[in-house]
Amino acid sequence: MLVGAAIGSKTKNYWAIFILAVVSHFCLDALPHWEYASRLAGVSNYTFLMTTLKSLADIIIGAAIIYWLFKSSNRFRFVFFGALCALLPDGLIFLHFLLQTALGWNSTFLYHFYLFHNHFHFLERPNFLFWKIIGEGSVFFSALLFLFWQTGKTNYFSRRAAKFKSRLS
Ligand SMILES: [Zn+2]
Repeated sequence: MLVGAAIGSKTKNYWAIFILAVVSHFCLDALPHWEYASRLAGVSNYTFLMTTLKSLADIIIGAAIIYWLFKSSNRFRFVFFGALCALLPDGLIFLHFLLQTALGWNSTFLYHFYLFHNHFHFLERPNFLFWKIIGEGSVFFSALLFLFWQTGKTNYFSRRAAKFKSRLS
């Protein structure tokens, strides 16, 4: 979402944002990261619901960060559109499993999309914790830093600290 937002913050063409954000999703899926979408195959209804709630919580946190950074920016629509496009591939995977679990329906298109998505996805290994922290952490912080820079909020925390200090003295 943050990388999609970063793309949206630099582009004012919806098609360009769509293409770049979707491509970025597949590129970043190749790096080790925490994942919900691929964990929905053949799970119980309870696990399905819990995984859905966890990913919703993630999306809300991402949306809140982006909203806070860009709420008064004229690029708001592009930024949010970028974040949504970056989520789209996993949204389709979610839809695939939702239809399968709730209706027992196997969409051929979604199944092929799922295989295509898996093709680019990194392979989970039990000793990957370190690489997940590095992979997801570096993308998260560099995207966040970029967004801060885009909104001119790079000195937000130093300004806050200065305000706090002046209040104390
Ligand atoms: Zn994905």
